[in-house]
Amino acid sequence: MSVYLDNAATTKPCAEAVSAAVDAMTENYGNPSSLHRAGLDAQLAMDSARKIIASSIGADSSELYFTSGATESNNLALRGASAAYGKKRRKIVVSAVEHASVDETAAALEKNGFEVTRVSPREDGRFYAEDFISACDDETCLISVMLVNNETGYIMPVKETFSAVKRRFPDIITHCDCVQGYMKLPVKATALHADLISLSAHKIHGVKGVGALYIRRGVRVLPIVTGGKQEKGVRSGTESVPLIAAFGAAAQKLRPTISERYARAQELKAHLLGRLAEIGGISVNSPDDGSPYVINISVGGKRSEIMLHFLESRGICVSSGSACSKGQQSGVLGQFGITGKRADSALRISITAETTEAELDELCAALREGMEKVRG
Ligand code: PLP
Repeated sequence: MSVYLDNAATTKPCAEAVSAAVDAMTENYGNPSSLHRAGLDAQLAMDSARKIIASSIGADSSELYFTSGATESNNLALRGASAAYGKKRRKIVVSAVEHASVDETAAALEKNGFEVTRVSPREDGRFYAEDFISACDDETCLISVMLVNNETGYIMPVKETFSAVKRRFPDIITHCDCVQGYMKLPVKATALHADLISLSAHKIHGVKGVGALYIRRGVRVLPIVTGGKQEKGVRSGTESVPLIAAFGAAAQKLRPTISERYARAQELKAHLLGRLAEIGGISVNSPDDGSPYVINISVGGKRSEIMLHFLESRGICVSSGSACSKGQQSGVLGQFGITGKRADSALRISITAETTEAELDELCAALREGMEKVRG
């Protein structure tokens, strides 16, 4: 892989994460539930990661539950919190641009009798807190709004929405999928007014297959996986200590540099947009004030997959729309007013602060060549 620009799909595990995982596989390999020394050592490694990750979002360790990834965290949040309300409240509010792990889960709950309201952006392509609030009422059990959209980098008005919801409807549970914002923007549970927060390790240079759900103390979430009562019964199953230790190591590494890295990503985004403008025929689908880590563009009516494979032939990895949807159009771009040929030719470029201008220039040179050589 010479130029990897698909960091919203996954990131390269950092050396610290790899070393923590290796240690937990070769030395500290006990089962954290075991009562002997090996179990205790594994438990200590897990406690340390839990503390690092919890404190990174301003939470207490006792409020953080490990899962197999944000897909499971989102399932647990929606299914577990709505179930905790029993039959009393049967309405759920979500944004219309959520990741499939929220959207499909909401659709499954809808089939089971919940009424789901999907809030769309207005004609200007922007979301407004008022639209979420007017979708809520006294029968709503849960509202779920992501922090950063994974396809366009759009930053959702989570804080404004959740604070107003909590003022008007204090019993509605607020859930935020923070996967694309965590360690990129400051994420604080109390500042967001979020009762539940989903995180994923592999988007922050940890390892795939582990995530976490923050559950504010006092909020009830029923388990969706039952068994040995690990994670205080909220998520049964032997915890993956290697992956959890790696998650903690990655979070510890990134936490002190969130703002510096954000500023660097902004410089890189500005550089890229400047170069893209020189090529001509390329439209930018991401908002100016979106996360600089995700830049969605449409390339002169050339079908995404064809251009993607052309770029691949030049050693450059990008994604068409969202990698999670495996080439299937997700409908999220349509929500943002990007439709037809423009949506069919969308590419997602997702960077890290370590991406270089030279790599972005290489992408632009290949895009220019592709514009000439690739047939629509
Ligand atoms: N939520 C968002 C916004 C994502 O971008 C992703 C992955 O792309 C997920 C959830 C799912 O995360 P995981 O791969 O840890 O299941």
